[in-house]
Amino acid sequence: MSTMNTVGRPTAPNQVDSKPATLTGGRGLLQNEALIFEGDGWGKTGVDLPEPKTDGSDLGDLVRKDPIGLPGLSEPEAMRHYVRLSQKNHAIDLAIYPLGSCTMKHNPRLNEKMARLAGFSDIHPLQPISTVQGALELMDTLAHWLKTLTGMPAVALSPKAGAHGELCGLMAIRAAHEAKGEHEQRRKVLVPTSAHGTNPATAAFVGYSVVEVAQTEDGRVDVADLASKLGPDVAAIMVTNPNTCGLFERDIIEIARLTHEAGAYFYCDGANFNAIVGRVRPGDLGVDAMHINLHKTFSTPHGGGGPGAGPVVLSEALAPFAPAPWVVHDDNGYRLIEREEDEAEQAFGRLCAFQGQMGMYVRALSYMMSHGSDGLRQVAEDAVLNANYIKARLQDLMSPAFPEGPCMHEALFDDEWLKGTDITTLDFAKAMIDEGFHPMTMYFPLVVHGAMLIEPTETESKAELDRFIHAMRLLAGAAKAGDVDRFKGAPFHAPLKRLDETRAARSPVLRWSAPEGSNQAA
Ligand SMILES: *Cc1c(COP(=O)(O)O)cnc(C)c1O
Repeated sequence: MSTMNTVGRPTAPNQVDSKPATLTGGRGLLQNEALIFEGDGWGKTGVDLPEPKTDGSDLGDLVRKDPIGLPGLSEPEAMRHYVRLSQKNHAIDLAIYPLGSCTMKHNPRLNEKMARLAGFSDIHPLQPISTVQGALELMDTLAHWLKTLTGMPAVALSPKAGAHGELCGLMAIRAAHEAKGEHEQRRKVLVPTSAHGTNPATAAFVGYSVVEVAQTEDGRVDVADLASKLGPDVAAIMVTNPNTCGLFERDIIEIARLTHEAGAYFYCDGANFNAIVGRVRPGDLGVDAMHINLHKTFSTPHGGGGPGAGPVVLSEALAPFAPAPWVVHDDNGYRLIEREEDEAEQAFGRLCAFQGQMGMYVRALSYMMSHGSDGLRQVAEDAVLNANYIKARLQDLMSPAFPEGPCMHEALFDDEWLKGTDITTLDFAKAMIDEGFHPMTMYFPLVVHGAMLIEPTETESKAELDRFIHAMRLLAGAAKAGDVDRFKGAPFHAPLKRLDETRAARSPVLRWSAPEGSNQAA
């Protein structure tokens, strides 16, 4: 069957190509939407402002010479523009969002309500401390929950994402080695091959050289290889647990012991904390520093939907070097330790201008308190159960990367099962879009060929998992039956087809400019 029409765009296999194309480019109640700058909002305004009383400008010579370059849309026009754009994309409110490593769970509306309370959302970081006692108490309570859940004595709340938390942790580690006079000799950070890209990037950013640690056949850190690379020149190891293959590091206690014996610190990438929250305390495993992605484990929206927050818990050894600020309280109430003279002599500095992502703190604490400690334990249990359900229901058709034993919160498949079909992991993912499902994470971790990493999270019901599994089984069956056209040209039904994702990432066009000869200002 032909898959190319006259304009070079593939048409879908089966009956779709017998249907007439629409005249406007719209499809089934979804209108086509141009960029806001390409609309006809020029030279008009959507608001009715009174004429200015003064002639000329209060700014003297500084009069604008060119049009301001903003389209003047009315409220319904602006709203429709963004709603139409949003319909071209996926959202966690639409369906399962199975991106492995990203923990795309439902964001409870209660959290949003709490974050919008005026006492949290309408305050300013430079307000007198006496007027923001409630906000500081909330930060202190959140810190208490994070320390309790991880079994760690200190936490730096201010890092604004997981990667920023890694930076915080490694800077605390560097400060600790500097305090011991060992910084000059300890120049290496050990990172397993399966690590998230941010781990080696952070170590390099802080000035360390990165040494890779091998992985065993069953997807864990190769302890013998690690031991052979540990020594007086190593500052830290960075290990993710559960790791990026969705597996618990069985030898984690031994890994921590060996690391400490060599005088190095154990940085744990805690992005996968969702799998163990309420069940395992990283402090009990010998971790010295770990970031917690509030936007993953504690449900604050992310992925185009909101900012992140990456608080870092620290062990006794690293706590003195925690960055300012932090909250303390005494009989006079809550206050912030911000400067050296306020008891922060050993702090390595600060990571951001003020206190961090207040809105995320509110949402995360709201999530914690509405679950309670028993509920948080169930989060981990259900997340792991859901991933194992998917693994069990798909493993007869697809090839699990590590078939032995159960997984943690992610089901990882490789592309072995696609051998001989001429269909790649990418083709398969694009065909999922046609079926209405956001693809899983692809080609990560790099140690697994053609990886497909599926993380359902605990917030998906069995019914939703069954819908996903049903679609996956139909697609896998089509792939095995040689229905190659369905995959090679996919997505056929999405508003945008295959994009040059590499070019989009490497040379992004971040600024719209008016086409030649147009009278629109840019
Ligand atoms: C998400 C993630 C990170 C980075 O977190 P960001 O908040 O995106 O910076 C680091 N490591 C792992 C394993 C992750 O999944």
